[in-house]
Amino acid sequence: MWFHIPKSIFKSLGGLDFLLKCDFELTKIPILLSNFHKQVLHFWKMVFTHNFTPHGSIVWNNRSILINRKSIFKTDWYEKGILFVTDLMGSDGLLLNHRDFIIKFNLNCSCNEYLKLCKAIPVGLIHLIQNTLRYSKVAASLPKLKVGEYIVTDRKCNNALLVTAFKSKFFNDYNNYFLVTPNLSIIEKAFSMFVKWPLSPKVKETHFKISHNIYPVAKFLHKRFKFDLTCCAFCECPEESLNHLFFSCPFSSKLWGDIKRWLSLKIDNIPEINISHVLYYVDGLDSKISDMVNIVFCLLNIIYTAVNGEVLPLVLFSFSTNLNCISPH
Ligand SMILES: [Zn+2]
Repeated sequence: MWFHIPKSIFKSLGGLDFLLKCDFELTKIPILLSNFHKQVLHFWKMVFTHNFTPHGSIVWNNRSILINRKSIFKTDWYEKGILFVTDLMGSDGLLLNHRDFIIKFNLNCSCNEYLKLCKAIPVGLIHLIQNTLRYSKVAASLPKLKVGEYIVTDRKCNNALLVTAFKSKFFNDYNNYFLVTPNLSIIEKAFSMFVKWPLSPKVKETHFKISHNIYPVAKFLHKRFKFDLTCCAFCECPEESLNHLFFSCPFSSKLWGDIKRWLSLKIDNIPEINISHVLYYVDGLDSKISDMVNIVFCLLNIIYTAVNGEVLPLVLFSFSTNLNCISPH
């Protein structure tokens, strides 16, 4: 069913394989499509990069070659091997006259029909093609149906490969690896324990983003959305990554050092604070104090999100200098 229905629907446009290679526009295709097939084609347009080369312009299903505001497909012409606009041209880049055209392709078509198609080709496109042909002897070829590195019609291209290709296309090579700690039990606790803590939704949301590596630091925004890479808002280090902003930045390390000293005033065996404690969970503490310490860590992380970069160092400074006056109990 998944094969036969599309095969029959897209037959009048040269088949799905061919249509996907064309620079089509959904609203200009001269057939009625179900919402499902419209969506499929929409998604294809999102993931497939149609590299425009003037001489490689396909005459069929082309969004800029229209008759009565619809793109064109002529089965008998297609079967005779007429694919590109250049097929309607001589070696000098000029459009063939009707007689030369029917002789070249041994095709039976009326002069009117041929002239109508020639008129539909935008003059700008013809000039672009002529310029290309004048300066280089390039042959037009159909594009390969590739998503990323994978040819989608290849038998080896299974669902897993396709999902990887789609993800890297949509999310711009972003991956969600948890590089900091390989300890699964800490990851599990980081993902589940914070839900029951008496924290505001905003704090929980921030903890969720940090622990899932989706907090919008500059590096994340650059990788996923191609934003310009900006420096750390606090120390102007060239790479503002999650690890840097929340842990290795000089302002953050000073804060965590102060926090450790503050907690150690009343609580024994506070471990040396590491990146995994900051991003995920402080493990191995006595059950009586474990939740309290982890709540302190979550609250401290929210300071980064709530305070403007320019005043944060001041806030951290006053927070750090006042820590000695506060008792954790
Ligand atoms: Zn920094």
